[in-house]
Amino acid sequence: MSEASELPQKEEEEVTPEAEEQSDNSSEDEATGDTEMDFLRNLFSRFLGLGSGEKVLDELTLDGVAQYMKSGKCKNILCMVGAGISTSAGIPDFRSPETGLYANLQKYNLPYPEAIFQMDYFKEHPEPFFALAKELYPGQFKPTICHYFMKLLKDKGLLRRCYTQNIDTLERVAGLEADDLIEAHGTFYTSHCFSFSCRKEYNLDWMKEKIFSDDIPKCEKCQSVVKPDIVFFGENLPDRFFTLMKTDFPQCDLLIIMGTSLQVQPFASLVSRVSKSCPRLLINMEKAGQSGIMDFGGGMDFDSDKAYRDVAYISTCDDGCLALADLLGWKAELEELVKKEHARIDSEDQEEKNTGSKAAAAAAEAKAEE
Ligand SMILES: [Zn+2]
Repeated sequence: MSEASELPQKEEEEVTPEAEEQSDNSSEDEATGDTEMDFLRNLFSRFLGLGSGEKVLDELTLDGVAQYMKSGKCKNILCMVGAGISTSAGIPDFRSPETGLYANLQKYNLPYPEAIFQMDYFKEHPEPFFALAKELYPGQFKPTICHYFMKLLKDKGLLRRCYTQNIDTLERVAGLEADDLIEAHGTFYTSHCFSFSCRKEYNLDWMKEKIFSDDIPKCEKCQSVVKPDIVFFGENLPDRFFTLMKTDFPQCDLLIIMGTSLQVQPFASLVSRVSKSCPRLLINMEKAGQSGIMDFGGGMDFDSDKAYRDVAYISTCDDGCLALADLLGWKAELEELVKKEHARIDSEDQEEKNTGSKAAAAAAEAKAEE
């Protein structure tokens, strides 16, 4: 992962000019008596990446964020989202060992639970992965209020991009398009032949049909296994992630982080790539992303007396989005959108079931006639 190793180096470069500026300030303070303390304070704030940004929010609350969004100065919003935005859709967190998902995998006789997402294991034994894929198949879930909040941001021309760690495709179901999305851990939306010399692409309908007929999906050209484009352990993140983050983050006016504990790299370090003046709102069940003292900086700071741009709203993602929508005067619009879209998905499901049972009935009839 050569491009990922670029991350820390880049941050180090960014720190240097400020470091010089800050040492100038501290030499001016020498007469104050607290010189050593000030020097240490400056040293720490330099390493924590604090103190050099402009204060954009009037207050570090959800209301402060809403006022800023209404000011007309906030035109490029980036969302960073994780498993927490899909839990209310009923989707368990794939990778977290605490969800009990791994415990359910015993029936597949895996050597160890993570093997199900490992390339080497998959190559020899693709069956457990596809059995799990059937159980957790994306199309069986509906996007959440939070997904539709991002769709509203798009409709209002405010969403620059959504960086998601989720592979459930609910952002697409909610109406975000390929260009609006960075699916950092890949997606079920497309699949590719596992053979490096072939790599033929398959679409979602093709893969769905294979998964639900309990077939191991095999390439029509070369008979190798076909794998959904989700990023397995040890695999590179999509090129698009590394290309677009370089232009998206420096131009971001507001970073909204939802439903992620910011523990998986390189995704987590994205929060430090926005400008020092860019406000960052975290909507999550707990605070996340704060810097450790040994970090290079750029971590979240909600509570220190130097905090000036980070807001934590501790709640479910759906409740947080509803509260923000309310402050923006969008609540009725958001609720209407969710209601309308969920009804549409339900009626499509029903249609599919009807067609499915008609086809089954026709097949049964044909068989009876034989
Ligand atoms: Zn092939």
